[in-house]
Amino acid sequence: MANKQLALVIDLNVCVGCHACVTSCKEWNSSGWAGPLPDQSPYGADPKGVFFNRVQTFECGTFPNTETVHFPKSCLHCEEPPCVPVCPTGASYKRAEDGIVLVDYDKCIGCKYCSWSCPYGAREFDEVQGVMKKCTLCVDRIYDTSLPEDRRKPACVLACPPGARIFGDIKDPDSDASKAIRDNAGFQLMPEWGTQPANHYLPRRKTNIRLHEDELVRADNPLKLEAELPKPVFSSPTVDEMSSW
Ligand code: SF4
Ligand code: SF4
Repeated sequence: MANKQLALVIDLNVCVGCHACVTSCKEWNSSGWAGPLPDQSPYGADPKGVFFNRVQTFECGTFPNTETVHFPKSCLHCEEPPCVPVCPTGASYKRAEDGIVLVDYDKCIGCKYCSWSCPYGAREFDEVQGVMKKCTLCVDRIYDTSLPEDRRKPACVLACPPGARIFGDIKDPDSDASKAIRDNAGFQLMPEWGTQPANHYLPRRKTNIRLHEDELVRADNPLKLEAELPKPVFSSPTVDEMSSW
């Protein structure tokens, strides 16, 4: 097992679903080492394209006690990646020095075995080039010594406005990534698959908000519809109590 494993730690309590990570990833990787990331019919009825990082948004709970959860997902750089051994050409590989899982486009024959084996749907097929692509953890910038040290991070981490994304070596107990996992009960996605994903998520945490009654009165409500709006049932369990983030 490698001594170093680079990974992302994504805080679901902080992500606001703004898609800054999605667009910054697309921008950087369209022109970088892993690009291009083509789009087909981007403004048509059925847009398609290659995105290394996507944010899925879910509505949880039962109306009116619902919560919106934003869930960013890219390749999780598994420590036991099933996408690697299935590749018939050796195009998919895991780097020994830092645990990043990459695809060698020159060797890829576009058979898609790796995308069938990835339980997270993290592989992205480039219809134009006919090869499989995916998140590289911005391998072309994190070691770039021409950049200031604090800029040698994946584009998504630098772009995230609320700082929901942490990058680091999860094998180093003193890294910010390891500390965040340890201090916030960070978890892996679907650990039952035995893939040991390197990327971790930090769970949603209960937030107590105290409001004064006068803050609940709407100043701009000429139709006085307050009484007809559904009211949350405060005695019901919250989504946090019912789910296991
Ligand atoms: Fe492979 Fe999918 Fe794991 Fe990425 S998330 S290393 S593509 S199995
Ligand atoms: Fe390997 Fe490319 Fe086939 Fe994936 S699509 S298994 S990377 S040859």
